Amino acid sequence: MALIVQKYGGTSVGSVERIREVAKRVAAYQRQGHRIVVVVSAMAGETNRLLDLARQVARRPSERESDALVASGEQVSAALLALALQDLGLKAASFLGHQVRIATDSAFGRARIQSIDKHRLLATLADGTVAVVAGFQGVDRDNNITTLGRGGSDTTGVALAAALGADVCEIFTDVDGVYTGDPRIVPHARKLGRVSYDEMLELASLGAKVLQIRAVEFAKRYRVPVHVRSSFGDEPGTMVIEEDKPMENVLVSGVAHDRDQAKITLLRVPDRPGLAAKVFGPIAAAGIVVDMIIQNASADGITDLTFTVPRGDFQKALSMVRGDEGGLGVQGIATDTKVAKVSIVGLGMRSHAGVAARMFEVLAGEGINIQMISTSEIKISVVVDEKYTELAVRALHDAFIPSRPAESRRPSAQESR
Ligand code: ADP
Ligand code: ASP
Ligand code: MG
Repeated sequence: MALIVQKYGGTSVGSVERIREVAKRVAAYQRQGHRIVVVVSAMAGETNRLLDLARQVARRPSERESDALVASGEQVSAALLALALQDLGLKAASFLGHQVRIATDSAFGRARIQSIDKHRLLATLADGTVAVVAGFQGVDRDNNITTLGRGGSDTTGVALAAALGADVCEIFTDVDGVYTGDPRIVPHARKLGRVSYDEMLELASLGAKVLQIRAVEFAKRYRVPVHVRSSFGDEPGTMVIEEDKPMENVLVSGVAHDRDQAKITLLRVPDRPGLAAKVFGPIAAAGIVVDMIIQNASADGITDLTFTVPRGDFQKALSMVRGDEGGLGVQGIATDTKVAKVSIVGLGMRSHAGVAARMFEVLAGEGINIQMISTSEIKISVVVDEKYTELAVRALHDAFIPSRPAESRRPSAQESR
């Protein structure tokens, strides 16, 4: 008898029919004698609808009230699933973040889980009740409702699995696993049978939103095996697990892309010690994550400094550097909000030279100009004009991922859309 945490995403609970299907799946597990904690997202589109409502009543919705509002989406799906389970004759109870007590910090909209009280859930499971937990939400020390950032139900699922010592965390979604590229833009992408925590961390942070990055961080830290699979079928998906020797033989395991990028260039700045600290200190203090940075060589003591930020933070970052143009000695600012980041990820890059050169050749062959480059041990990322995103992803996929016809099929949910 296992303890299993199952997380169902928005599409998987997107209608009453889907919720009934999920209830049937949970009931089948329950019949096998497993103890089940289910984490649910809001029904597909609901979080966006709620955020839109907030914008209709307030020009700049406050973060605290926005969290109170969007957290309600998960409350609805958790209660509906508990009702559907009861309708099948199971014992089920829904729990909100504060009822479990998923304690977070107070960073509304992007809160981090600090601790989880497992006692109430364990007591619930002990008498054969299925616990249905609202994903994406927690509570801070002042009892304010917080949310964990978009896609945060994944993190609720994995964090609960870690806290409860679950045997596995199953992430049920609308694709049947982690693919070598986003199946929406690489039709011949292959499903990975296994992927290491480190590769998945890179893929998630580089735009593969099939798992929220913090979920992967939890999984890695607490060694939670994560099984990403489809709620529309029964076939096995992708296991996200600790790396082993054979995984290192794969040069590139995936191609990722991220359109959520904007670029700011400070033109002709005096190249003095402390310049970078002066520019990036206040931006970091405002909670904006700067991704790539390039400083051009300066022969005459004058330099150009270019960096990228998430598009949602672009205006804020821009107004910060604009506000200090005088102090920085900037002679102009250029911006570009139509850029995207395209990356290749693979453990094999650690031991193989020449991967970057090959990547640049492939992009050059397609006439795609590389604006910025960054590398780590197991990934190479480039910033390109957004209009080339799909071309770049497909060209890199063709160049680096060997095709295996037997496995190359599109996920079922995509086909049925
Ligand atoms: P859920 O609502 O179930 O949390 P998401 O929309 O957050 O689902 O994540 C699933 C989506 O992630 C897929 O529909 C797919 O378009 C996208 N995706 C991006 N990159 C990948 C990848 N490498 N493998 C699988 N899916 C990916
Ligand atoms: N409902 C939230 C969102 O849309 C959380 C999640 O789906 O994981 O981002
Ligand atoms: Mg998601």
